[in-house]
Amino acid sequence: MTTREARGGTLVIGGGYAGSIVARKLGRLGATIVSPDNFVLYTPLLPEAASGMLEPRHVVVPLRQMCPHAELLLGRAVSLDERERAVVAETLGGTYAVRYQRLVIALGAIARSLPVPGLSEHGRGFKDVADAIALRNHVLRTLEAAAATLDPAEAERQLGYVFVGAGYAGVEALAELGDLVHDAVRRDFPELRERPQRWVLVDAAERILHEVPQRLGRYAAQELQGRGVEIHVGTTLTSYDGRAAALSDGTVVPARTLVWTAGVRANPVVAELGLPLDERGRVVVDEMLRVRGREDIWALGDCAAVPNTATPGRVDPPTCQHALRQARQLAQNLHGPQRPYGYRMLGQVATLGRYKGIADVLGLRLRGFPGWFVARTYHLYALPLLPRRIRVVTDWTVALLFRRDVSELSAVGHPRRLEP
Ligand SMILES: Cc1cc2nc3c(=O)[nH]c(=O)nc-3n(C[C@H](O)[C@H](O)[C@H](O)COP(=O)(O)OP(=O)(O)OC[C@H]3O[C@@H](n4cnc5c(N)ncnc54)[C@H](O)[C@@H]3O)c2cc1C
Repeated sequence: MTTREARGGTLVIGGGYAGSIVARKLGRLGATIVSPDNFVLYTPLLPEAASGMLEPRHVVVPLRQMCPHAELLLGRAVSLDERERAVVAETLGGTYAVRYQRLVIALGAIARSLPVPGLSEHGRGFKDVADAIALRNHVLRTLEAAAATLDPAEAERQLGYVFVGAGYAGVEALAELGDLVHDAVRRDFPELRERPQRWVLVDAAERILHEVPQRLGRYAAQELQGRGVEIHVGTTLTSYDGRAAALSDGTVVPARTLVWTAGVRANPVVAELGLPLDERGRVVVDEMLRVRGREDIWALGDCAAVPNTATPGRVDPPTCQHALRQARQLAQNLHGPQRPYGYRMLGQVATLGRYKGIADVLGLRLRGFPGWFVARTYHLYALPLLPRRIRVVTDWTVALLFRRDVSELSAVGHPRRLEP
């Protein structure tokens, strides 16, 4: 196998939120990034990309622009040879052993699915930009199907939407897509105005948004219930056949749409690397973000169990704000004096569509419009690169002035073949 050297001696596997910030912070010191996509997705804005509030391309940032001094190899890391200090990467240009002096593992997480009958065949994930685009087109298609059918039971199924997992991703996705359907029916589907819709949020925990303080979680639940969303907490999905979802509390929801947002688990590729893992499959690192027992390998983000000196005894939750701070510290530790990582959370924010949101920032708890405004402002700050921020603000402004686009573009990505 051909061998090549990582630029500047640093190899970053995984060019997501954490890995890209490490490479960007290294600047002219250089790095080689191995990643399957040539962009970074800023996931907190994914629900708005799914609802069409934001252009999907604006919630991703090209890696080549974000890390101009890094070398990008589009592909996947598949194995690690610690003795040779090399990672085998299957890239678009062939398979290589990429040699490193410093290795950074930033492989993120994947959706955590459960063996629920019918889920993997009929459920939809919500993890990346392709999921968001597909979900938007699917939801618009359910409106078209409900408008076209003469069968009331089928119309009911088309207008049934179930979201399993009431963390940030599930709550925000439901709220944003609910807005999309609400606006589309009000303005573009007069034949559906009298048809009942059913929006259902399910979670095994005892309350929704268990990450935020109870008072804000309660407000979010009341806000959604006020819009007619049914919330089933302490409840699990027992089966889904593409036509109806059965819940553990006995409820059966006729629905052509089921979105699974019930958590994530560490990328299983990390288990192939032969490094120490915790009980949840995350790479074990010390406070310098160095993999336990290794001199030249570091790990961070959702694939790592990162201890935090500001929260002794607890490892970081899988969030962008933690990944950002870990990445900044790690970039310093790679070349400068080693310092332990410590970060106290500034707060948490979530948007609920319709100019409503919640924010718990620096002890200030806001809800409604102020919560929404703070949530959006925070996302603008955390989104990498000024031109991206400007595009996002432009999208938000345009959305204020014009009605939503209800074009259903599921044919995109499936071009017709040329006739012979
Ligand atoms: C829908 C959704 C909404 C979210 N909303 C929020 C929010 O509102 N606020 C918040 O703080 N956090 C949110 N998060 C969590 C946040 O996205 C993560 O904590 C953050 O992205 C972690 O960064 P990471 O680099 O560890 O992982 P990722 O950003 O997921 O990056 C991992 C990278 O590794 C790449 N990769 C995978 N396999 C390989 C391989 N074999 N070789 C090379 N590269 C590989 C992937 O393509 C990806 O680019 C959300 C997550 C999701 C899914």
